[in-house]
Amino acid sequence: MPVLTNIGALARCVRSAPAGDAGVVEGAALVWDGATIRWAGPAADLPGEFSGWPSEDAGGRLVVPGLVDCHTHLAFAGWRSDEFALRLMGATYLDIAAAGGGIASTVAKTRAASTEYLTARCRAHLAEMASLGVTTVEAKSGYGLNVEHELRLLGIYRSLATGPQRILGTLLAAHVIPPEYRDRRSEYVDLIEQELIPRVAREGLARFCDVFVEESAFTVEEARRILLAGKRHGLAPKLHADQLTSGGGGELAAEVGAASADHLERISEAGIRAMAAAGVVAVSLPFASLYLGVMPLPARRLLNAGVPVAVATDFNPGSAPSYHLPVAMTLACTIQRMTPAEALRGATVVAARALQLDWEIGSLEPGKSADFAVIDSDSVDHWLYHLRPNACVRTVAKGRDIWRSAPVS
Ligand SMILES: [Zn+2]
Repeated sequence: MPVLTNIGALARCVRSAPAGDAGVVEGAALVWDGATIRWAGPAADLPGEFSGWPSEDAGGRLVVPGLVDCHTHLAFAGWRSDEFALRLMGATYLDIAAAGGGIASTVAKTRAASTEYLTARCRAHLAEMASLGVTTVEAKSGYGLNVEHELRLLGIYRSLATGPQRILGTLLAAHVIPPEYRDRRSEYVDLIEQELIPRVAREGLARFCDVFVEESAFTVEEARRILLAGKRHGLAPKLHADQLTSGGGGELAAEVGAASADHLERISEAGIRAMAAAGVVAVSLPFASLYLGVMPLPARRLLNAGVPVAVATDFNPGSAPSYHLPVAMTLACTIQRMTPAEALRGATVVAARALQLDWEIGSLEPGKSADFAVIDSDSVDHWLYHLRPNACVRTVAKGRDIWRSAPVS
């Protein structure tokens, strides 16, 4: 039942506040009891009932809600650093695929890797994410691309979800058409619809069903079939949409009532209007825009239209080989023209909404989960402006320390 005192700035990210309002209180205190926040506000207003509770000192630092990385491809084997230089020298995705690289190489390596190896790698990545302040991670399958291996990846996520850091699985069997189905793609869509989705739902392995809608992946019609099948089985829809080409992904996200549509670098005006009307969250993935050298998502147009914009890493070995969410937040500011407050809300309460968990996590309000990070900075602006390897000194999830760089004095 601790009271965290001497908080220089407490960014509460109140759920009902506007996009640009981080809900900062200076000279604040935060009270939690077990896994639940009891009180957050100016220290001078701390109710007397908490005065005898054990107190901890935040050293005048910034405290933010635990960060929520709402889009990652966490489990995979190998890296693709060999393609990095090739791409920089002008090789296209098709050149790399023809040489046996690209996503197919990650699928082959991931299928060949042992469950123990993949689990240990995920655990190491999650520990580093915790050290950056990340308390919730969405994790997609999609490097298995058959029943056995998609279920195995989701099973790994479930086995990792036993601690205070939240791990939420997403079925992304519709990532690309696997090589063995190249000439019979409708059979692969049938397999996802008739076999994978029912099994994933029956075994409680995922909350979401995601489809990569793109010329090189799945069509709008195929995506609609898969997402509606997922919905019938209780899996909320998500989409990788309008990344390289404007393909009606935003419109489809609105039509199926998706929890989020992600990427959206090429979203159309009609797509923006449809998403705003349907209340679909746009998830921006600035690392992918940066690494692929494409225009970033039009965050200002989306925000002005009333679409909530989340920020996530898209951690994957091809287009976004980093899980450094605070750097992605800085990039959301510099290349997407979001304010630091919008980027912070995007990686906390808006990201929580993209995971349909904003009633539980993403803001520092009484009754919500005691998930927060202590940042060695005096303001949200300064934290995201002054790029450091890691400014996070302490991360708490469900009321328990999951990272501490040094005793908070
Ligand atoms: Zn992705």
